[in-house]
Amino acid sequence: MFDVIIAGCGPTGAMLAAELRLHDVRVLVVEKETEPASFVRIVALHIRSLELMAMRGLLERFLERGRQRPVGGIFAAITKPVPEGLDSAYAYLLGIPQPVIDHLLEEHAIELGAQVRRGCSVAGFEQDDEGVTVELSDGEQLRSRYLVGCDGARSAVRKLLGVGFPGEPSRTDTLMGEMKVGVPQEEIAAKVTAISETHKRFWLRPFGEGVYSVVVPAVGVSDRAEPPTLEDFKQQLRTIAGTDFGVHSPRWLSRFGDATRLAERYRVGRVLLAGDAAHIHPPIGGQGLNLGVQDAFNLGWKLAAQIRGWAPETLLDTYQAERHPVAEDVLDNTRAQMELTSTEPGPQAVRRLLTELMDFDEVHRHLIEKITAIGIRYDFGEGPDLLGRRLRDIDVKQGHLYGLLHRGRGLLLDRTERLTVGGWADRVDYLADPTAVLDVPCVLLRPDGHVAWIGDDQQDLDDHLSRWFGMPAN
Ligand SMILES: Cc1cc2nc3c(=O)[nH]c(=O)nc-3n(C[C@H](O)[C@H](O)[C@H](O)COP(=O)(O)OP(=O)(O)OC[C@H]3O[C@@H](n4cnc5c(N)ncnc54)[C@H](O)[C@@H]3O)c2cc1C
Repeated sequence: MFDVIIAGCGPTGAMLAAELRLHDVRVLVVEKETEPASFVRIVALHIRSLELMAMRGLLERFLERGRQRPVGGIFAAITKPVPEGLDSAYAYLLGIPQPVIDHLLEEHAIELGAQVRRGCSVAGFEQDDEGVTVELSDGEQLRSRYLVGCDGARSAVRKLLGVGFPGEPSRTDTLMGEMKVGVPQEEIAAKVTAISETHKRFWLRPFGEGVYSVVVPAVGVSDRAEPPTLEDFKQQLRTIAGTDFGVHSPRWLSRFGDATRLAERYRVGRVLLAGDAAHIHPPIGGQGLNLGVQDAFNLGWKLAAQIRGWAPETLLDTYQAERHPVAEDVLDNTRAQMELTSTEPGPQAVRRLLTELMDFDEVHRHLIEKITAIGIRYDFGEGPDLLGRRLRDIDVKQGHLYGLLHRGRGLLLDRTERLTVGGWADRVDYLADPTAVLDVPCVLLRPDGHVAWIGDDQQDLDDHLSRWFGMPAN
């Protein structure tokens, strides 16, 4: 008997497993593939995800394996300098191969005690009042209290659950791959710069060791069900650039579409969905993985609380209430960004106008805060602007605030030195620090770093501790 079975050991499933293990939840991750994915796709880890890694003491591992880049120019690839006043200690983008992210998160989950079973998939399940019976592809049946589908865009869990996945099918396909080129770098650079002026769904970027990352539209490319060939890439390059740059020796070739869909529900009884299983959208702006990892971060402590028995009645449902609107917003911004990459005159005119508007720092900052997910404010009711937002990593007397959140517990940061977490001390840490750089007297942080309460009154604090952390232990 497990507490939670997770279908899929992608970044979402691995992050969720680790978050649950922080609370001693018995977790099994079932992963269809025998080996982790091998092809190297560089993805962007955005500010909020970097903050999550810092909150769990993982950031150094990621920084060692990735390359930091400025965050300017990530909205619809409109080139701009970084806007002033981004409110984060980690205000950069980390370019890092997705297999490295997958590996680091799986390693972290296993270090914390999660079991990962590779080479079998979740093939069916039935739920009842006490738990879920999960059937694996090898016929074995396992029992758990909850099942979470982190099994990607074609999620079997979502389909078996019968949850609708409305949205738009793919209209525009793109080819992406890594290969060698047969002409000098300078020749490529000049041509690519000129073409990029009008073609926003095209790039040819050096990757090191003579290998280039190539992205081209898949206009008129053969059968969608067939994997793309090097010849498909050559044809597209010739159409756009008048030359195929002598590309050869592909490392891997892939195709992706711009289907945009959102699950109608994230929870049906004891079965939940997270990551690409719950939402898909085009990769523009590099948000999908970030969104999934952040879903897992939101869900982990709530599901753990449910299993540990201290969750307030509605806590688990706040997962959908908080994360569904965030995904809706990401889907919308990717729709908008895709329009802005069209070569049609209308969208190109809108792009020029937006490019002008982004010279206003506030406009650009708003868009960057959206993509990097630091602008999110959950609806926790009326209160100061900080309520419901994540708190940045501020200096505290023991060093950095995020250094105090590694165990995935709540935290009361008390500048008045008068308050107490009383009977919630088994779930919520306490730090008295009159020197903390905050312009409010006290904040109560949830384990995901969002501000759940602001104030200086003990009774009001106790009410909010009950709201988020259940009944006191004594
Ligand atoms: C070209 C491209 C570029 C991208 N760039 C970025 C970027 O820069 N930044 C970003 O944030 N995102 C990016 N993304 C999106 C990102 O890759 C995905 O959003 C991310 O992988 C989703 O993670 P996941 O764990 O939810 O799902 P997945 O990574 O799809 O993992 C799901 C796992 O479940 C397994 N599985 C499937 N079915 C079953 C089953 N029945 N039982 C058990 N296991 C199962 C699969 O084998 C897989 O390992 C990009 C995507 C593409 C296509």
